[in-house]
Amino acid sequence: MPSMLDAVVVGAGPNGLTAAVELARRGFAVEVFEARETVGGGARTEELTLPGFRHDPCSAVHPLGVGSPVFATMPLDRYGLEWLHPELPMAHPFDDGTAAVLSRSVAETAASFGPRDAGAYRRLVTPFIGRWPTLARDFMSLPLTALPRDPVTLARFGLAGLPPSTWLMKRFRDDRARALFAGLVAHVIAPLDGLATGAVGLMFALAAHEGGWPLPRGGSQSISDALTGYLRDLGGVVHTGFEVKRLDDLPPARAYVFDTSPTAAARIAGLGRAYDGYRYGASVFKIDYALDGPVPWTAEAPRTAGTVQIGPSSREIGTALRQASGGRAPETPFLISAQPSLVDPSRAPEGKHVFWTYGHVPHGWDGDLTEAIERQIERFAPGFSDRVLARATAGPAELFARNANYVGGDIACGAAAGLQLVLRPKLSLFPYTTSHPAVYLCSAATPPGPGVHGMSGHNAAKAVWRRLRST
Ligand SMILES: Cc1cc2nc3c(=O)[nH]c(=O)nc-3n(C[C@H](O)[C@H](O)[C@H](O)COP(=O)(O)OP(=O)(O)OC[C@H]3O[C@@H](n4cnc5c(N)ncnc54)[C@H](O)[C@@H]3O)c2cc1C
Repeated sequence: MPSMLDAVVVGAGPNGLTAAVELARRGFAVEVFEARETVGGGARTEELTLPGFRHDPCSAVHPLGVGSPVFATMPLDRYGLEWLHPELPMAHPFDDGTAAVLSRSVAETAASFGPRDAGAYRRLVTPFIGRWPTLARDFMSLPLTALPRDPVTLARFGLAGLPPSTWLMKRFRDDRARALFAGLVAHVIAPLDGLATGAVGLMFALAAHEGGWPLPRGGSQSISDALTGYLRDLGGVVHTGFEVKRLDDLPPARAYVFDTSPTAAARIAGLGRAYDGYRYGASVFKIDYALDGPVPWTAEAPRTAGTVQIGPSSREIGTALRQASGGRAPETPFLISAQPSLVDPSRAPEGKHVFWTYGHVPHGWDGDLTEAIERQIERFAPGFSDRVLARATAGPAELFARNANYVGGDIACGAAAGLQLVLRPKLSLFPYTTSHPAVYLCSAATPPGPGVHGMSGHNAAKAVWRRLRST
């Protein structure tokens, strides 16, 4: 170990690992310290139920990963990362046995909304098609850590997305498109009438058309393992089973980069009450299933989709989100589900399947949502319960126990409400720096926020390398 490291990273989630890679590839000496025995944070894969069933306890589907501007600069395929694309990125079934879809094709997606909304959808997304690489880079570098490469498209995206998603949904006359769109916004657990929530929905829709919503072969762990493999080849060192409690626990370094919640960083690095005002939001109740066969969906489309949104109307989805954010468990939860073994047979024994789903619940909620979730799945896939071989459930307490970043079970590491959706962890043009000149934040609590894309790690690393080079 060199006497003085350039940087120490606390936490080996996708952002921590990305920050470490970004520094190591620029020649800096970096070591990562991770509390758990394995790397990955929200990108892990484990046998949670029965032998041979490989589940993702956190993230499963990666529109933001395959479309990540920083992952695109890394040779992660050489380290085993392979994206598998389901026939359909996403399907959203309704009570009448039909489904709207988010397909790679804009035309197929528009057609699934019905004739009254097909044109409105095409008009909404067409101006952005073919522009993902620059748009994603510009959008994910806000607040400005890089000058926009295509300011016109970014401004156009801002105009469409800055208002609440409920405004954007007014373009649609029927509820099929509105429900699917409301579901997309729910991926960041934001209330539908929140500022800039339109941008969230639009970004996920564009991601489907531009890069798809793939799953990594072998599960989300493959992303973390690829980042770690690359980091090690660059000379970086990763320590696991090491929970950092105080800055003094760590070797001396010129910079400390925290892939943790802001409040944990403040506690560990002695930043005082800097982040006392930071708010944590609603949580989820997650179930991982081992199934005897595929989910018996009534509608055709979900049988080939990687992701299935279960919420029959925009009103029901809005109510579920409002209830969870307002402190009440929804009677009818909105569910986001994933079917990894449809594209990746290595995830389950032959003929069997893994199935991943969660519904939103209040921050710190200690109830059991299993029955309400299964009632809702049965509504669109009668006979589902008969296929269940085993289930592993995790509510807010279990999520927090597995990963200290999920305070109160908040999987977004901070409420995506109000200005905090974009300006996090505080109102600042320099969200990655802290009051301590050597301490930085790089977790999902910093822009561009939750998701496995590594861009918070990249943006934070940029702040670090600029300082290290200037001192
Ligand atoms: C149930 C669930 C489903 C999700 N689904 C998706 C999805 O499908 N697609 C998607 O893109 N995103 C999804 N996400 C979100 C995504 O997983 C996170 O936004 C992402 O992992 C954030 O990355 P991160 O590096 O900021 O933090 P994390 O991935 O949370 O990693 C933080 C790491 O820091 C470690 N750590 C914390 N404190 C300490 C300490 N004191 N000392 C040492 N180590 C410490 C933790 O153990 C952890 O490994 C999901 C999350 C959950 C929980």
